[in-house]
Amino acid sequence: MEFKAIRGVEDLLPPESEKFEKVVDTFKKVVKRAGFKEVILPIFEDVRLFTRSVGETTDIVQKEMYVFEDKGGRTIALRPEGTASAVRAYIEHGVFAKEPFTKWFYVGPMFRFERPQAGRRRQFFQAGCEVFGLEQPGADAEVIYLAHSLLKALAVEAELELNSIGCSSCRPEYRGKLLEFLEENKGQLCENCLSRFERNPLRVLDCKEEQCRAVVEKAPKITDYLCRECKEHYEKVKELLNLMEVPFKENPLLVRGLDYYTRTVFEFKSDKLGAQSTVLAGGRYDNLVKQLGGPKTPALGFAMGIDRIMLLIESPDRKREGVFVVTRGEEGYRKGLELVKFLREKGVKAEIDHRQGSFKAQMKAADRCRAKFAVIIGEEELQNDFLSLKELETGKQEKVETPEELLARL
Ligand SMILES: [Zn+2]
Ligand SMILES: [Zn+2]
Repeated sequence: MEFKAIRGVEDLLPPESEKFEKVVDTFKKVVKRAGFKEVILPIFEDVRLFTRSVGETTDIVQKEMYVFEDKGGRTIALRPEGTASAVRAYIEHGVFAKEPFTKWFYVGPMFRFERPQAGRRRQFFQAGCEVFGLEQPGADAEVIYLAHSLLKALAVEAELELNSIGCSSCRPEYRGKLLEFLEENKGQLCENCLSRFERNPLRVLDCKEEQCRAVVEKAPKITDYLCRECKEHYEKVKELLNLMEVPFKENPLLVRGLDYYTRTVFEFKSDKLGAQSTVLAGGRYDNLVKQLGGPKTPALGFAMGIDRIMLLIESPDRKREGVFVVTRGEEGYRKGLELVKFLREKGVKAEIDHRQGSFKAQMKAADRCRAKFAVIIGEEELQNDFLSLKELETGKQEKVETPEELLARL
């Protein structure tokens, strides 16, 4: 075959696409119940939006971004994540001046040039939400609770890991201590960490290389260096999570792979996916709005990896639904089409087989389409002006006089 999907990019056909729909529907239901409103954001942006927010030294920016020059000579990146665009839109449209706090959600494809494997594709899908304008720890607890209830609604078992990575007043001291420690242990760091630890020592904390993991185990912990405000904030978040019955485990080494986080960070991890275990992650980013040119605005959010979630959930039941109209002859077919039109207008799923093969072939199609009922318009029905309604699962058949009566029976 001449054309194939690009490596790392996948088509989603039914019934996989139904699974996708189930995840997105569940996500939307849960976040809308909490008052979140949808934003639809562009999939490409000025590359600088990401270098400045996600961070110059992150893997995402250094190795994984799809960057190209468009015909106008601009340097464009396909978005590797959703938060930067949400913040850009929040600032660009002056939303901060219109409402005291803002709750947004988004769903869509993201792009990262990674080695493709199960649950990790170069075009992947995320569903995320962002809260702007709230600095209170209650907002952190609510966002985490929301993520928790979302995974529960999807029947995904995942463990919540929680940490606070401090703020711009307490992190520098920790950064210094960490840098000192890494300097002493740099002989054991991987090549990648060795080249960047001076610019961004925190990055080493989430390096996946075994040799670095071993060093990191003994590294100083950020939670021992939090300022009073950060400490109080973190304590309150934990207290409120307990109140809302969200179980969590503290992980003082959790920093997330992006630069913009402050204070609360969290990840939901599943042990059913092997190495790529994070299914949902997020945190607070109190400096990002200002950093991207807006007024100082506290903010936080999370993103869920739809592709990974799909590996963890069952396909939705293909339950029988609606009607398949089975007919005989031209007159039957015309009546059948009218009936299909009538039923659809009344909100009932209705199909007909245009091939008009044998009665048996049409019944087979009805079954394949997972119809709940077949409505038969055969010779007898036409002569005596009635319809036969057959429940496909039980085989039970009855006569109905009119389309209205049929509708009442469904
Ligand atoms: Zn602090
Ligand atoms: Zn490393």
